[in-house]
Amino acid sequence: MAHAIKQETSDPYMYQPEAETMPREQLAALQLERLQKVVAHAYANVGHYKKALDAAGVSPADIQSLDDITKLPFTVKTDLRDNYPFDMFAVPQDQVLRIHASSGTTGKPTVVGYTEGDLNMWSDLMARSMACAGARPGQVVHNAYGYGLFTGGLGAHDGATRLGCAVVPMSGGNTERQVMLMEDFGASVLCSTPSYALNITEVAEQQGVDLRKTNLKRGIFGAEPWSQAMREELESLFGIKALNIYGLSEIMGPGVAVECDVAQDGMHGWEDHFLFELIDQETGQPVAEGEPGELVITTLTKEALPILRYRTRDITRLNRETCACGRTHVRIMGITGRNDDMLIIRGVNVFPSQVEAMLVGLPNIAPHYQLVVSREGTMDTLTVEVEAVPNTPEADYDRIAKEVVHHIKSMIGVSCRASVMPPGELPRSQGKAVRVRDLRNK
Ligand code: AMP
Ligand code: ZN
Repeated sequence: MAHAIKQETSDPYMYQPEAETMPREQLAALQLERLQKVVAHAYANVGHYKKALDAAGVSPADIQSLDDITKLPFTVKTDLRDNYPFDMFAVPQDQVLRIHASSGTTGKPTVVGYTEGDLNMWSDLMARSMACAGARPGQVVHNAYGYGLFTGGLGAHDGATRLGCAVVPMSGGNTERQVMLMEDFGASVLCSTPSYALNITEVAEQQGVDLRKTNLKRGIFGAEPWSQAMREELESLFGIKALNIYGLSEIMGPGVAVECDVAQDGMHGWEDHFLFELIDQETGQPVAEGEPGELVITTLTKEALPILRYRTRDITRLNRETCACGRTHVRIMGITGRNDDMLIIRGVNVFPSQVEAMLVGLPNIAPHYQLVVSREGTMDTLTVEVEAVPNTPEADYDRIAKEVVHHIKSMIGVSCRASVMPPGELPRSQGKAVRVRDLRNK
């Protein structure tokens, strides 16, 4: 789709150029030094790690090369839950200056803590990430990530401040007001989830605001999976360049990795602070170069909550080729989804983002969708709920549904049903969108 992107020069401005372009050998040496330190720190100060390393028969002194990391046991989300609330913390309580938590759907939340040093490092990495994505000091940043226990809001807030931007701390919701202020304050950068950004475009249209005529130039979108098709949709609706940002609270929050404005092709994972591995989900062994796998992250500099080999459940590929922007850090080539979000429908593995990629851009349907999984007898069935674009005659719904079914069958290989609804019927996202309604155990 041809559309004009309001873009300033794509100069490879860097917030921390020395770190961002560090030669690979130097980066590896720094990683080893930091890995040895963090393993010793975790072993000495976190009961869980003392036990886990002892049980695996490995001691901090065994880490003599980066490859030795594979001797360490993995950390999983339940380890944090089992040590609720603060037993994974490696520093005395009075050194913890911030606590965040991610709401689990069941039981206790996952709690994370930060020292002053951790908050500083996070602000730096977020400032670095935002600059990498094309934000510049002096710009207005409209921050629509949720503020609160979720790391998105405050993470982006502190990063934008550190970079030297004027932050508008909107949080999610109150969308009419967001549109007005974004326009009136002349925001150059919008930070939000991609699904909420889409919600904003719809409300702007209802208000008669043409977002393409505002000062907005970059969208820094993340915290949930989104497809290339959704990127094109958002770029066209806002008249911006949309960049993907990745993070998770267990590791830090947003700013673990981000796409660069120059190549817009994979998210640079900041290897001076994190060590990235990609493993086979079944065997736990490293995957071959370029193959997809589960991302495993070790924090190299975190004080309050050092995490060794965290199994993120996020599926991606890594690219270690040099990037056009000059940064040397590995690229995480998009997140297909979390392996626990993967649906298995009649034996076919399906990620919601794959369905999204099919739906967005199909004529006559709006880019809102939900996947409903139910069980009939022993079979799981998938119903894709979509909305018709405004003014579509209802007589056409049936034909549109057939097209959706046909597309999904031919591109993803899964048989499904489609239900076409009138505009506005599906829930709109305020933050992380709920893409799947699972009716199987109801
Ligand atoms: P939270 O700890 O609540 O911030 O959630 C972190 C999770 O959000 C990650 O493990 C991913 O599953 C997901 N996530 C964050 N950023 C992205 C992104 N850019 N693309 C896809 N999924 C993401
Ligand atoms: Zn790059």
